[in-house]
Amino acid sequence: MKFATEESCRAYLFRMRWPDGFRCPRCGNSESWSIGKVLVRCAACRHLTSVTAGTIFQDTHTPLTIWFRAMWWVTTQKNGASALGLQRILGLKSYETAWTWLHKFRRAMVRPGRDLLCERVEIDECYIGAPEEEMHGRGAADKTLVVVAVEESGSGIGRIRFRQIPNASAATLNRFIRESVAPGSVVHTDGWQGYRKVGSLGYAHEVTVLTGRKEKASELLPHVHLVISLLKRWLMGTHQGAVSHKHLDYYLDEFAFRFNRRKSMNRGKLFYRLVQQAVAIEPVPLDVILHPEKQQTWKLPPRKSPSREADTDRLAVQATGL
Ligand SMILES: [Zn+2]
Repeated sequence: MKFATEESCRAYLFRMRWPDGFRCPRCGNSESWSIGKVLVRCAACRHLTSVTAGTIFQDTHTPLTIWFRAMWWVTTQKNGASALGLQRILGLKSYETAWTWLHKFRRAMVRPGRDLLCERVEIDECYIGAPEEEMHGRGAADKTLVVVAVEESGSGIGRIRFRQIPNASAATLNRFIRESVAPGSVVHTDGWQGYRKVGSLGYAHEVTVLTGRKEKASELLPHVHLVISLLKRWLMGTHQGAVSHKHLDYYLDEFAFRFNRRKSMNRGKLFYRLVQQAVAIEPVPLDVILHPEKQQTWKLPPRKSPSREADTDRLAVQATGL
């Protein structure tokens, strides 16, 4: 690694954040002067800033060289990174610090305004938090419902998207589909009633009805079910199943980030992308990292059909199909 000094790390962040030269975050002016090694003063509005201000590195007391080692390690671990692993590799005293850093990185793994999935997309939901076999007999109370979209790419898999959802109602599923899939694409689902309106949202809706078929769901929607099994393996393996529901979204982001770049032979590209996004997103207060519900953007108004009933129906449909 060429990031052995604070200066080289800072210069790298500078090029990532301002590829066309400095821009004042307050007024957009490009003239500035340096104050010492870290601070930059805008020549127009006099705003005092630094390359790390307003990024996930803001207010850090840890040298950038350590942050860079952390990001390098995280992006070069083929199966993802655990907090314990990061703590060991950096020799951090506190597990909580390693855990918090990983969560900051995960927030930088979602590209704002990322492209929508397109052409042919399989969509289905799954429960996270319990072995598949236990799904049918028991309620869904201790499990989290996650919707999964998988782009078909020839006979293989293209890009993927996840979202934790409060229920499998049409409103919830339609919203996810509109935010994840480009209009005009083919959306392939099972016969769940929550997908009934997909055809009226500007998609070609292809339905494979599971009920009464002897094939398994994994054969009828093979791409999405392969991704679900890989996700579950990853959560059980790298994270030993110890992911709490309130943080699950960020683990889903990390899984998608890695999966969508799995064909990139150059691990350096993953690192590059992570650093690029780390200086592009706002800093997240520790309080919000620990309690993501305080920044809940996924809130739907209460619907007439209660979610638990919808989920129970859903389980019933899957049970007859499986
Ligand atoms: Zn300015």
